[in-house]
Amino acid sequence: MRRATPTAGTCLECGCTDARACPGGCSWVDETRQLCSRCGPVSLKVFGSCQPKGSTRTFVTKRGKTVVTSDNPGLRGWERAVRTAAQTVTTRRRGYMFMGPVSVTIAFHLNRPKSVRPTRRLFPTTRPDLDKATRGILDPLTGVIFRDDAQVVEIHATKDYTNGAPFAWIHVRPMGVPLEWEES
Ligand SMILES: [Zn+2]
Ligand SMILES: [Zn+2]
Repeated sequence: MRRATPTAGTCLECGCTDARACPGGCSWVDETRQLCSRCGPVSLKVFGSCQPKGSTRTFVTKRGKTVVTSDNPGLRGWERAVRTAAQTVTTRRRGYMFMGPVSVTIAFHLNRPKSVRPTRRLFPTTRPDLDKATRGILDPLTGVIFRDDAQVVEIHATKDYTNGAPFAWIHVRPMGVPLEWEES
């Protein structure tokens, strides 16, 4: 695989260069010099009910076909929604993927059942389990936002209730770039 390292970098998002940095200053997020620290972090807002990645079962049919079944049929649609949102970013960045260590922050805002009053249950101490819901995010990001999920060296995940439509906020940033979280 050929990977050219440009001698003079230009940010894929904002077009800043070595000679003309962003106002206030910026740095390259990695040695490929394709993204600057102002534009590096990815923020995705995905609407829908997050789905936990449960156990999957793999078996081979008599005809030799490998079949993978999941115990959660809703997972596929959710993973597709996350992947589609991620692909929008990667397409805009002309295929750029993070190559180095990344930090992932995920905030799940779940649907509050009408029967559950805030006074009774402030936080969703029910399913989905946070770790399994996180898995349901990292898998569709792999090969789109970063090459390999082994690159994830930090995860911060939370779940709470929302009174509106459920959604998940996903932030991925290359290590060393500060998190600027704008919820708008
Ligand atoms: Zn930039
Ligand atoms: Zn810049």
